[in-house]
Amino acid sequence: MPESTKLEYNEMFCNSCGSVVKKEAEICPKCGIRLTGSGKDWITAVLLCFFLGVFGIHRFYTGSTVIGIVQLLTLGGCGIWAFIDLIMILVGAYKDADGKPLVRK
Ligand SMILES: [Zn+2]
Repeated sequence: MPESTKLEYNEMFCNSCGSVVKKEAEICPKCGIRLTGSGKDWITAVLLCFFLGVFGIHRFYTGSTVIGIVQLLTLGGCGIWAFIDLIMILVGAYKDADGKPLVRK
């Protein structure tokens, strides 16, 4: 028998293990995964920005499509913008299109 799927108003399911957790919880108490991230993978963004940053690919990946197009047309602001983005991602200051931090697994 599966566990009851009835949720209280302040509860949600953990994306990773499926257990019921409080919505305001930052980390799942069962599997320890961070719940408040954007769902976008940090290391993927690092690699995309490092190799394809001048094409704005990391921006497309994190949902900022308009900025991605601008970076594509300007070649990442002649590489400077892409470089700044890479630094921002590396120090954890980069946010996705919804303003959420990237997830480090
Ligand atoms: Zn979990």
